[in-house]
Parts: sequence; structure tokens; C-alpha cells
Amino acid sequence: TAPPPTTAPPPTTAPPPTTPPPGARVDNPYLNAVGYVNPEWKAKAESVPGGDRVSNTSTAVWIDRIAAIEGTDDSQSNGPMGVRDHLNEALRQGADYIQFVIYNLPGRDCAALASNGELEPDELPRYKAEFIDPIAAIQSDAMYQDLRIINIIEIDSLPNLHANTGSNPGATPTCDLVKQNGAYVNGIGYALATLGAISNVYNYVDAAHHGWIGWDSNFSPVASLLKEAATASGSTVDNAHGFIVNTANYSALHEPHFQITDMVNGQSIRQSTWVDWNQYVDELSFAQAFRDELVTKGFDSGVGMLIDTSRNGWGGSARPTGPGPMTDVDSYVDGGRIDRRIHAGNWCNQSGAGLGERPRAAPEPGIDAYVWVKPPGESDGSSEEIPNNDGKGFDRMCDPTYDGNARSGYNPSGALPDAPISGAWFPAQFQQLMQNAYPPLP
Ligand code: BGC
Repeated sequence: TAPPPTTAPPPTTAPPPTTPPPGARVDNPYLNAVGYVNPEWKAKAESVPGGDRVSNTSTAVWIDRIAAIEGTDDSQSNGPMGVRDHLNEALRQGADYIQFVIYNLPGRDCAALASNGELEPDELPRYKAEFIDPIAAIQSDAMYQDLRIINIIEIDSLPNLHANTGSNPGATPTCDLVKQNGAYVNGIGYALATLGAISNVYNYVDAAHHGWIGWDSNFSPVASLLKEAATASGSTVDNAHGFIVNTANYSALHEPHFQITDMVNGQSIRQSTWVDWNQYVDELSFAQAFRDELVTKGFDSGVGMLIDTSRNGWGGSARPTGPGPMTDVDSYVDGGRIDRRIHAGNWCNQSGAGLGERPRAAPEPGIDAYVWVKPPGESDGSSEEIPNNDGKGFDRMCDPTYDGNARSGYNPSGALPDAPISGAWFPAQFQQLMQNAYPPLP
């Protein structure tokens, strides 16, 4: 016979029921799925003539400060809708997926100034308790269990710990500090573990772009850093559903007129000034190769990549229609490249850029989707100092008269003039992006 109960009955061992059941995530949350249209971005897009041609496109909602969780209109980059408002609106729209950017690390944007944030480098406890936990509390509400909630985790953060620390030419004191105190690695680990515990959440971690990680000196070390962060703070690699490249950047999806193996007069095009020994010339080839590298580091063989194509179209009248002349590597590459930036390290409000591929699922092997995570028409940073309450600094990479720094090879910034602070609406840029869209707009 069973022994009599002692004091209290033993705790039940069965886990509480969850819907959908654990493991119910689909391989590619974008496939056959309708994306959420952010009404705040849609209204801005439609405020510019012709904007209604793209205003029904799904763009990401950026949670770039604690106040954005509830919604705030006292900042220049957020509207009054908070996380819950967006989720409710997604249900109302009948959307299948919604994309959020989780963007508030302590000591944010450590190698630049334009997207500095509200949390100091030593404020990891606030990041966890006042930022990640409240977002998780809302996203885990059973009301939203049938939505695929896609979280893009911390743009342009981890690569700084490798590339912009120590004796590297781009090193900054803030990057050294957040490397040494673990704020980025532990913050991202915590975000992945906490949000990844919600069964209908899909986390994609930022992996910068080929014009940063494509060099041998960065490629494998940054993949290792991503692994380190994905296994920090109690997280496991399974909390990373995939990775995203090219958010808030302008690198071409595909360079149609040359490839990395091309030779001119017996010289590899890797020796051209533009390619400068990089192993990749575009985002598609980089994303596919970096996916393989991440799998060798221990990520699941099913991880999928996203490529942000919001501003990498490079159409318009300056787009080359064929390869450059075979006279020397520079003429060949510069004559044929569709990416018309002055230098691949230029990242702020690039002059000549256009909207890229419209979002779509499973466009190429290993790629879950082309997405518009950086909402086109939202500035990368102000072209001159503008006082603000958002914690945003003035980075001269956004100043069209600047001659550049070590990270841009001391080239001019290529930025548009008269830009507002990062995240604020920049109608002239949106007009240019539509003008130079590729594929072109009707
Ligand atoms: C800004 C954010 C903004 C985001 C989307 C970033 O550069 O720092 O405040 O929400 O861009 O536009």
C-alpha cells in the first residue's frame, strides 16, 4: 500500500499546459505568412507623395527605450503605440507575424554616437528588470499565442566587442568597458533566454553586414562571440532561431557584375580599393557563408538568415548596367558595382541609396526572408548637433562635410544633408529611397 502522506503532497511533476505546445515553432516563421503593417510608419510613409506605393509593407517596430514599451510621443523616434498596442493591432489586422527590434543595451552603440541610448554601461540590472522582463510579460500573454512574434536582437552590438576594442584602430573606451563588464554578452544572453522561453517567439540575433564581418580577421571571431552571448545568462543556442544582416546598413544584396573570384590582369579583385581584401562582395553570399560558420560554432543546422533590404536597392540613373572595364581591378570593380557608396564602412543616411527587395519569404537557400527591419525614411543620425531627450549624440559620420575616420578609411561620409536625429522621420531621404528603388516602384 502507498505510504501515508507526510506533510504536504509532493509537487506535481507535470509542467503546466502551454499552447501551442513546446516545439511547435515552425522552421521559417515568414513562410506563407502575412506581416504586420505598423500604422505609425505607414502614416509617415503616406505623408510623402508616392509613399502609398510601399506603405503597406511590413516594417519592424523598434523598442529602443524603456518608455517605448508603453509607448511615448515625447521622443522623436517613437509614437504613442506601445508593445501591447502593436500586438493588439496585429491581431486586428489578422497578421501572422510581427517584428520587434529589441534595442536598448547598456552603453548602446559603443563605437558611434548617433544611436547612443538611455542606459549607462553599468546598467545591466535595469536592462533586465525594466526592459526585457516587461517586454516578455506582454509577449507571453496568451492572447497573442497564435501570432509569430519575431524579435530582432540588438543591432550592431556584439561585433564591436571584437572589432572596436583593445589595440584596434577603431577602439573606443565605451566598447572596452562593455566588453570588460559583460554588459552586451550577458544582456543579449538574458534577452534570448527570457524571450526564447515564450513558445511563439522567434529570436534573430544581429550579425552586422559583409562590409564589417566579411574580413577573415572578423568572420570567425564574431561567430564565436555570437555563440558566447547565445549561451550566456542561462541561454542555450536553441534560443536563437536565426540571425539578421544588413539592418541599418546599405550593403548590396547581390552585386550582379562581379564576384569575389574574378581576376583582372592576373590580380584578384580582392586587391581593389573597394573590396580591400574582404572575402565577400555582397550580403547574399556573406549571409549564406556566415550561416555555415555559425553552424560550425554549434548553432542548430536549421538556423535561418534574414537580410534587411530596406535601403540596399541602389537603383536609379547611377546604377551600372554592366561590368566595368578590364583595365585594372579598381576600374573593373568601381565601374560595375551597384553599391555606389564612397566606402563600405559608411553607414549614415547614404546619398544615392534606394529601397531594396520588397520583403518576401525563403528567397534563397539558407535565407528565411528579405525583411524591412530598419523602417525606410527613419534617419540614421543627425547631420549636425541637435539637442534631444533621446540620449542621441551627434556622430560626424552623418555630417556630409566630414572626411571620415579609421573605420571608414578616412573617406567622406557620403551622408545626406539636413538629417534629423536617428529614428526621426526624414522625408527627403524617403523620397530618395523611392526614387532609387530597385526593383523600381511602379
Ligand atoms: C535609432 C532608434 C530608431 C531606429 C529605427 C536607430 O538608429 O537609434 O531610435 O528607433 O533607428 O529607425
